[in-house]
Amino acid sequence: MDTQKRVLIKFSGEALAGQNGFGIENSVLKYIASEIKKLISNDIEVGIVIGGGNIIRGVSAARDGLIKRTSGDHMGMLATVINAIAMQEALESSGLDVRVQSAIQMEAFCETYIMRRAQRHLDKKRVVIFAAGTGNPYFTTDTTAILRAIEIQAQVIIKATKVNGVYDKDPHKFEDAKFLSTLSYDEAMKDEIKVMDNTAIALAKDNKLPIIVCNMFEEGNLLKIIQGDYSTCSVVK
Ligand code: UDP
Repeated sequence: MDTQKRVLIKFSGEALAGQNGFGIENSVLKYIASEIKKLISNDIEVGIVIGGGNIIRGVSAARDGLIKRTSGDHMGMLATVINAIAMQEALESSGLDVRVQSAIQMEAFCETYIMRRAQRHLDKKRVVIFAAGTGNPYFTTDTTAILRAIEIQAQVIIKATKVNGVYDKDPHKFEDAKFLSTLSYDEAMKDEIKVMDNTAIALAKDNKLPIIVCNMFEEGNLLKIIQGDYSTCSVVK
């Protein structure tokens, strides 16, 4: 398969926390920046969505009823902006041009998301980090990632995780869990698999956007996959 020219990579907020489980671990930021730099050096245009789960998620903020779900989701979206600003610093430190674009206007911090402007940045080989989710409560950053990938006309979306890809059941619980190198969108929606939430997968399905799930902590993996070697990941299509 040919090298993809434009990709969107989704990192979970939790990935940024490293071993701590909370907050932002600078060594992870540096590692991600070095992996993204390899892509830019190979003429690949890169959009990024980062979650906020290392700081707060709407559902858990609203758990005991004190905070309303919508407010919790607003807090979650703000968490993604914190992560985006941190990632911007790390990418800039490694010599890359970066723009953060937020779905919610926050002009002292970053640009507001404008699709055509994002396209221009990508054309100029600037990394664009899409922050504040979709700007709406009751959505996730997985759905944001699919949405932005479609808008910027990325050929593929990569969900960068801590595991090698998708299994038919939880490999931590079941010894006989089978690795799935390819699966359909409908299979990806099954409860025991759930690559992403159903809204995200349905959007990818409707727009025929392949979803790649891979291990971000395997050095060189992102570049290898984007160059067409799918031997170390799972593909939902
Ligand atoms: N969020 C939201 N709308 C969006 C995207 C995110 O309300 O379009 C909120 C939601 O509360 C979510 C939180 O932001 O839980 C952080 O995003 P997510 O849970 O997707 O982060 P991840 O699990 O990838 O770290």
